[in-house]
Amino acid sequence: MSEQKQVKVHVEDVNKSYGSNHVLRDISLDVHPNEVVVMIGPSGSGKSTFLRMLNQLEMPDSGTILVDGYDILDKKTDINKVRENIGMVFQNFNLFNNYTVIQNVMLAPVQLGKMGKEEAEKRARELLETVGLADKADMSVGSLSGGQKQRVAIARALAMDPDIMLFDEPTSALDPEMVGDVLDVMKDLARSGMTMIIVTHEMGFAKQVADRVVFFESGKIQESGEPEQIFNAPKNARLQEFLSKVM
Ligand code: ADP
Ligand code: MG
Repeated sequence: MSEQKQVKVHVEDVNKSYGSNHVLRDISLDVHPNEVVVMIGPSGSGKSTFLRMLNQLEMPDSGTILVDGYDILDKKTDINKVRENIGMVFQNFNLFNNYTVIQNVMLAPVQLGKMGKEEAEKRARELLETVGLADKADMSVGSLSGGQKQRVAIARALAMDPDIMLFDEPTSALDPEMVGDVLDVMKDLARSGMTMIIVTHEMGFAKQVADRVVFFESGKIQESGEPEQIFNAPKNARLQEFLSKVM
């Protein structure tokens, strides 16, 4: 167990089908503390399903998934405790639009009894400062731009003090001029040592920030490696074809 604790996420031989659609095929991946793993690949290749399995929004049909050493498929594991350590940011923010910015950020820690209201508010203000939105704390979320909403969503995920952050195409729904601010927040987070798994089509960002790039295609990890190798010397023919389309 002690060796497995050195691995933040250990995925081994995971398979998942929806009916006859075999979406994940023998997927194995380890993510180490402070590592930033970027997942790329065509639409429908299983990237979101993979991320969603890590906090049990989906269940695999077979295989092993350990998060922080906990077997999340073991019925004895308290999945809610494991989830508290995993922050997730989605393409479409999933914020409460009728709440203010700061209420969105404070909600989970207060509701889950992690902090009192005062402490949660103080922490929320710090986090909003970090994502460049301190001045928006008391505005309603509905009045923000997409890029601002996504930065609120990141602050909200961080409010639970997670030690792993998952991002599923966090900039795909944004107007192009909003993308940079969100990626900058993610870069800062990576520099701060956060363990991150990021699905994105932003190849420039992947090159800059990833410790490792993983290429998904047809439910399989076709190739993975350091960004330098993946982008400059891809071996897999499907990866070569994918890169020729997106770069
Ligand atoms: P990606 O994120 O790489 O675009 P997904 O993981 O979303 O891929 O989807 C992989 C495949 O699984 C697709 O064929 C998709 O239609 C299918 N799929 C995803 N979620 C579901 C679901 N809840 N029910 C049925 N099929 C699904
Ligand atoms: Mg997806």
